[in-house]
Amino acid sequence: PQLINQIAAGEVIERPASAVKELVENSLDAGATQILIEIEEGGSRLIRVTDNGLGIAKVDLELALSRHATSKIGSLHDLESVLSFGFRGEALPSMSSVSRLTLTSRQESDNAGWSVKADGTEKELDPVPTAHPIGTCVELRDLFYNTPARRKFLKTEKTEFGHIETVLKRMALSRFDTGFNLRHNQRQIMDLKPALSNAEKSERVGLLCGDGFVHESLEVDVANGDLGLQGWVGLPTYSRSQADMQFFYVNGRLIRDKLINHAVRLAYQDVLFHGRHPVYVLYLSIDPRLVDVNAHPAKLEVRFRESKAVHDFVYRRIKQLLTDVRP
Ligand code: ADP
Ligand code: MG
Repeated sequence: PQLINQIAAGEVIERPASAVKELVENSLDAGATQILIEIEEGGSRLIRVTDNGLGIAKVDLELALSRHATSKIGSLHDLESVLSFGFRGEALPSMSSVSRLTLTSRQESDNAGWSVKADGTEKELDPVPTAHPIGTCVELRDLFYNTPARRKFLKTEKTEFGHIETVLKRMALSRFDTGFNLRHNQRQIMDLKPALSNAEKSERVGLLCGDGFVHESLEVDVANGDLGLQGWVGLPTYSRSQADMQFFYVNGRLIRDKLINHAVRLAYQDVLFHGRHPVYVLYLSIDPRLVDVNAHPAKLEVRFRESKAVHDFVYRRIKQLLTDVRP
């Protein structure tokens, strides 16, 4: 039961952005290379995520909306050691209990799509044939319509949409291989093609973090045994006092980590004599056995087995790069 509670707690849909995050993660899990995210009224009226992934078999549509039916977790140990997304089998059922959800999907072997619906009270789990391309579309209407207290806690349309943008930006910075298209109230907000070459990746970073950052940053690509560090660090000339311009990914997963922040800050401080808000987008690759991913998926935390080694690696390498360009 404790495990169930932990799982459930991690899955609570707090606001539209949390639903968007879960849906896009599902699309990524399904191997989508193109994801369309359509939002109306900050997500409180509509959230629709359409992907070109593998799709869901007709016989599995009902299961996808059933609690825990898809959970692949046997024990707490498994929960802690799972690195990928999508192992809890709880997101779609949670969403369907607080919105009007329609799930439509088509696999390559199907001639047409199939769709099921559920909301807080009614379920139509017998698949209905629906015209649909290969892939999946999940539509949530009227999020929290049946939980007025929660609905009341939603902030303005602008604020909620801002959270959605943040969530997508973070994912788009770690999944260059996937195209993301975001629309709000029918207006195109983000249109990112899959970025494969380094030039395309830089272009995406420019679109997401500003051209200024790309032009005034150093590319990082260093390795040391098991550790690899790639990405961009802003040049001293590019110092924006924006805390949200610090992105650090560990094996593709965004984390907020004091240790890492400290390592980068210290490097700036040593070279520039001030650690004024360094701006960076960095990707650390490390043997997964040397990191503990926090059991709570929403917490952006990890624990390194050899934290001093990781700290020193990041610190030394960034310091070296900054020293090399110091005027
Ligand atoms: P979880 O992702 O934790 O397994 P979810 O409730 O998010 O649980 O999704 C339930 C299941 O529905 C997934 O395990 C997956 O099999 C299927 N599914 C959900 N979204 C998609 C999608 N976009 N494409 C393919 N399959 C999906
Ligand atoms: Mg999921």
